[in-house]
Amino acid sequence: MRLRLDRAPASAWMAAAAAVLAILLALMADPLAAALLVFAGVAAVFAWREMQRTTISARDEQIELMGLAELAHLLEALPDPALLVGADGRIAGSNAAARSQLKFEAAGLFLTAILRHPDVLEAVQAAIHDGATRTIEYETSDQVDQQTRCYVAPIAWGQERAALLVFHDQTARINTERMRADFLANASHELRTPLASLTLALETISGPARDNAEERNRFIKLMQVQADRMRRLIDDLLSLSRIELDEHVPPEDRADLSQVAREVVDAIAPVAAEKGVKLALTLPSAPARVVGERFQLAQVVQNLIDNAIKYTPNGGTVAIEIGAAQGRDDAMAQAGRRWPEAGRIAMLTPPPANRAYAFVRVEDAGPGIARRFLPRLGTRFFRVERELGAEKGGTGLGLAIVKHIINRHRGGFLVESQQGKGSAFAAYVELAED
Ligand code: ADP
Repeated sequence: MRLRLDRAPASAWMAAAAAVLAILLALMADPLAAALLVFAGVAAVFAWREMQRTTISARDEQIELMGLAELAHLLEALPDPALLVGADGRIAGSNAAARSQLKFEAAGLFLTAILRHPDVLEAVQAAIHDGATRTIEYETSDQVDQQTRCYVAPIAWGQERAALLVFHDQTARINTERMRADFLANASHELRTPLASLTLALETISGPARDNAEERNRFIKLMQVQADRMRRLIDDLLSLSRIELDEHVPPEDRADLSQVAREVVDAIAPVAAEKGVKLALTLPSAPARVVGERFQLAQVVQNLIDNAIKYTPNGGTVAIEIGAAQGRDDAMAQAGRRWPEAGRIAMLTPPPANRAYAFVRVEDAGPGIARRFLPRLGTRFFRVERELGAEKGGTGLGLAIVKHIINRHRGGFLVESQQGKGSAFAAYVELAED
């Protein structure tokens, strides 16, 4: 948009001329002098008021404003930082967003004192001297990387010319786009690996192993494993995208976390028994009624128990405990700070609030997780075994699913783990008040 400012519009000049003419006539013709002088007075006042007016025209539309102060108000109302830079290179106006984000106090500074990007400075010159409008995108890395889109438009009032700069932060949008692209690349890569094994096995069965029954069976088994892996990946990916869809809508239902845990344990018991792993469930005496969606909470408990069983050796025990806590810090202490020597990390922490929580803690007798890997837990597709070159067939999506569900529930998710002792994953969600 191109704005034009005229300090004294034509009407002001016409009124002034009328005033002068009236005075002259008054002097020449005595009888009319009094009346003409009154008229001259009114015209002069009108002229003076008109002189104070500033008109701004946006394209062909005329927007009339009472002085430049109004333009400053207009800038102030913009949510994005905005600056008005004069032909002398000094900041002639700014809004609060600009002052706080570009860190300066008042107008009068040279633009170069707060912004040195050559393309922006060039665009300011082009706006002032050639009336050009430009959009510049640039990256800054003060403490965090920031992507900004700066719109530079010319403004003129009377003989004066200026440039209007509006800065729009693009960081969040660009990060989201990058994350989506990364996610798509990772998901495709994860799916391509079992697909490549399947293709290879198919070629072997229909080629070299065609007449060898033993070899054929071996490859068919391998194909089943890979097809199963693809199915799990797709199930987990679909689960994750469904959860993300309504992650911003907190649940309104109520569920008894103890009952959820009991049902999951009953359903999973045969799998544990087959692996020779014992499941020990400890429940509080009172029901643990929480604000939450039953199905999603069951998914949380199931994913944590699945992992615990996977890593617990034959003959070991997985301990599942439901408990209540007075507040966030109490929940973190009770659910995730039991082993003094363990490494621990909170994958998700809700803001402090005066709320009581119910937690589920799933403790295994597995190998534990090295401290250096803890910060990456809950990141999509991250698997400790892949880092160590010993794949165990997981998707690396289970903990990410838990994290997103708990995030939707405005709860917390943490882990403590000690190599040689085991790991304990815990999630906590708000207890229902009604
Ligand atoms: P998956 O188990 O399908 O690989 P998860 O997201 O559930 O995916 O887990 C991510 C990684 O975290 C696992 O691959 C494993 O390396 C590690 N992990 C999760 N739970 C445990 C556990 N109880 N003990 C040891 N390592 C675990």
